[in-house]
Amino acid sequence: MKQECSFCGRKKSEVSMLLTGLSGNICSDCVGQAIQIINQEVPESKRKSTTKKSKILKPIEIKQHLDEYVIGQESAKKILSVAVYNHYKRISQELTDDVEIEKSNIIMVGETGTGKTLLAKTIAKMLDVPFAIVDATVLTEAGYVGEDIESLLVRLLQDADYDVPRAEQGIVFIDEIDKIARKGDNPSITRDVSGEGVQQGLLKLLEGSVVNVPPQGGRKHPDQKMIAVNTKNILFICGGAFEGIQKVIARRLNTKVVGFGAKEKTQQIDKNNFLQYIAPQDLRTFGLIPEIIGRLPVLTYLNPLDREALRRILTEPKNSLIKQYKALFHLDKIELSFEDETYDYIVDKAIEFKLGARGLRSICEAIMVDAMFEYPSKNVKELTITKEFAKQHFETTEHSNLHVSTK
Ligand code: ADP
Repeated sequence: MKQECSFCGRKKSEVSMLLTGLSGNICSDCVGQAIQIINQEVPESKRKSTTKKSKILKPIEIKQHLDEYVIGQESAKKILSVAVYNHYKRISQELTDDVEIEKSNIIMVGETGTGKTLLAKTIAKMLDVPFAIVDATVLTEAGYVGEDIESLLVRLLQDADYDVPRAEQGIVFIDEIDKIARKGDNPSITRDVSGEGVQQGLLKLLEGSVVNVPPQGGRKHPDQKMIAVNTKNILFICGGAFEGIQKVIARRLNTKVVGFGAKEKTQQIDKNNFLQYIAPQDLRTFGLIPEIIGRLPVLTYLNPLDREALRRILTEPKNSLIKQYKALFHLDKIELSFEDETYDYIVDKAIEFKLGARGLRSICEAIMVDAMFEYPSKNVKELTITKEFAKQHFETTEHSNLHVSTK
């Protein structure tokens, strides 16, 4: 068979990719055009949804997958695995009896940079469902400058290539949910732009309803055709640092332990990490309205990352930073290795500059940039990054350049 596209006739060398069939070939450009034609010609209702009816992984399998990418956070991983399993079981099975399983949206509380987004992202990737990360702080009530609540779904639609049925089974990660908490206990001071009104709007999405989404995002435009999206089966995972919530938890625990059996209970409390005792009422005290809390029935927490965790994050996850650098050098046929002490040095700097896990990357870049600049032109087969090398290169970089990379 000739090595050319049977549709447009171009040769293999003229196209980016040529797929070979039994009695013909098709190039990547023609595939693209074919998809466009199908999308235009075949009504959506007649199109078979591309949503995969794949086997649902069991909670233990989900957790094992998360273990490959996320260090520590055992409790969050376990709770998420169960919630995600139940969610997809719920939407993949026609229930025969009258029991209606409610949606299990999730809320994760933990300091910034401890893995909340990473967990949500890893789950979405594993399930191969559309995924969108949105920041709650940009949301406003209709009429105020900012994005409308519906905009949360625009990115999900985009990620699903506007395949609505697929988007309707996706995952939305709402970051910084704590920022829309009502400040203080007096709701009537002024109408807060990002506050209770936004929470009310969010409620609608969380509980499941048909929402009209402007396909291009932005403010509603009278002549923009809306896309109706049903949020019933969309899994919402919310995350927030809830700064100061430790005090709220501590206060609740203290008031509770007074009285019968108080002595034993106080002894059991681990005062170094109150987050592990988080309960829905703490979110309420913090300023989330009870209806929102009710719609986020799965509550879990993330631990702050200690030295050991940071060190493991550097080397252990499947796509850890160190593995990525090794792979980059490998492409230039250079075997890159690191001395153990170098890892300690990188972790020390992340702690010293209070950069956490997110800062590991900036530190590694500072150390590696010269090597990545010079070595591809050198005729060497090996490079070992010693602590001395790391120190020398790190100290010569402008520390003002060190920034915490955003996601
Ligand atoms: P946040 O809790 O603020 O959502 P992220 O999930 O965005 O934090 O974490 C920022 C980065 O730090 C991630 O991309 C990842 O590289 C790293 N990281 C944070 N926590 C972990 C963890 N527990 N395991 C592995 N990597 C982590």
